Amino acid sequence: MTPADELIFLALGGSGEIGMNVNLYGCQGKWVMVDLGMTFADPGTPGVELVLPDLDFIEKRAKNLLGIVLTHGHEDHIGAIPYLAAELKVPLYATPFTAGLIRHKLIEEGLEKEVKLKVIPMGGTFQLGPFGFTYVALAHSIPEGNAVVIDTPYGRIFHTGDWKLDDEPILGRPSTAEELTKFGDDGILALVGDSTNVFNRRESGSEGGVRDSLLKLAQGRKGRILVSTFASNAARLDTLGKVAVATGRHLCIAGRSLERIVRVAKETGYLKDFPPLVDLEDAERLPPQSVLIVATGCQGEPQAALSRIARGEHSHIRLGRGDLAILSSKNIPGNELGIGQVINQLTAREVTVITEKDAHVHVSGHPGQPELKAMYGWIRPKYAVPVHGELRHMAAHAAFARRCGVEKAIVQTNGDVVRLAPGEPAIIGKETVGRQVLDGDVIVPADGTTVVQRRRLAHNGYLSATLVLGRGGKLMHEPHIVVHGVPVENELDKFRRDCARVVHQTLDKVGVKDQERLAEQIRIAIRRLARDYTAKRPVAEVHILSV
Ligand SMILES: [Zn+2]
Ligand SMILES: [Zn+2]
Repeated sequence: MTPADELIFLALGGSGEIGMNVNLYGCQGKWVMVDLGMTFADPGTPGVELVLPDLDFIEKRAKNLLGIVLTHGHEDHIGAIPYLAAELKVPLYATPFTAGLIRHKLIEEGLEKEVKLKVIPMGGTFQLGPFGFTYVALAHSIPEGNAVVIDTPYGRIFHTGDWKLDDEPILGRPSTAEELTKFGDDGILALVGDSTNVFNRRESGSEGGVRDSLLKLAQGRKGRILVSTFASNAARLDTLGKVAVATGRHLCIAGRSLERIVRVAKETGYLKDFPPLVDLEDAERLPPQSVLIVATGCQGEPQAALSRIARGEHSHIRLGRGDLAILSSKNIPGNELGIGQVINQLTAREVTVITEKDAHVHVSGHPGQPELKAMYGWIRPKYAVPVHGELRHMAAHAAFARRCGVEKAIVQTNGDVVRLAPGEPAIIGKETVGRQVLDGDVIVPADGTTVVQRRRLAHNGYLSATLVLGRGGKLMHEPHIVVHGVPVENELDKFRRDCARVVHQTLDKVGVKDQERLAEQIRIAIRRLARDYTAKRPVAEVHILSV
């Protein structure tokens, strides 16, 4: 697929899923990429944490790729950069805070010289071939949420990025209704936009409201207060700094991602009146009523600060009776078990736990229906292309956009080639897309041999038999049986003996002439034995050595 005199949209990630956003726009033979994110692995891929998009499509066309434009600094929008950007050999474009986060990632990977990073001021514009870009500030749950307006010879795109409406965003100044209306007046061909919260009937709510509520919760408390939130939510951190000052507490932070965000936020002019931070070692010695701890791990991540504190394994922070833990966050689907475990562990320590179900301690960064309606009213796009959602979110968003007056809304998913102009927009083709995983420090296909084998081993266990054959094909020793992760532990010796017996029987029956056939017959026989014992089908191997 090469874009001709037309405007093409093609998602390589983030459409049909929430996470791993990678969007391509194509025009007159050239491509630009908007965002290059990653997502987290589910428990179905044991041993793997990060999932990356498969960029094969654009890697093959990299000489016609003009640049990668980043909307904001969340991992689902920039997380794949350290792993995949260098190979594409094109510059990255980002506003200062986002660029600061990217720079830290590139430095960590030793790529700061290899990958060019161009910092564009908020509201700035730049041209990449036939594409003119303008950053448009919108509120979100990280500083410098941005939409991008993309001017092309075939019309103007309003690519929303992740956004919400917030009268009191704490950090930054989002575009006003008037400014957004102006874009609408000038004419927008298509709005390509965030579908995450399309099922929310209410607006997402303001950071200012959370600040008031957190302050109320902290006032008059006697014990330690710990708040866990998403590290990237610098406005929430600013709020917690103010709560600490207002309640006479020292602020300390626990977790590396928090340290990084605070550093980048300060470097780029945010958190200007953040109170001085107290080291955790010092916080340990302070009276409980004079400490406010901000900790990573609001999603129950086992290695994050909050989980270690809840398990009583943190080297400096202990919580107990009279202390308060606030989860200033939402449960991301899939993390409920881990979060529940942390809350149970804190409860066992007699810590009072407050979540968003108990008090107004979190607001979402994505638009609910009233906000979507307002945005469609201002921008008045001719067409809508929902992204940043599972199919159910995008289909609902498309229906909602039609009710808001768009002429046509296209439900597309990763790999669909959407022609936006000229003429009636339509899906005109399908390109191959996929997922890769970061396993250790190696990137492998998500459905490749490594992952498939790992999954089989993790689910079924492993069984092997080794035979040493001497002269004339006689067994030199009893067969050596190895069992890993097969539930025979209560009768392991008996199982091993039975395995050896099955090996002997098969050997007698098949003979040693055709060793390949012998190995396969033994493999089938010991696997059947394991199945009879356990109803499991372990990965089985047979090794035959001739001496
Ligand atoms: Zn985001
Ligand atoms: Zn996102």
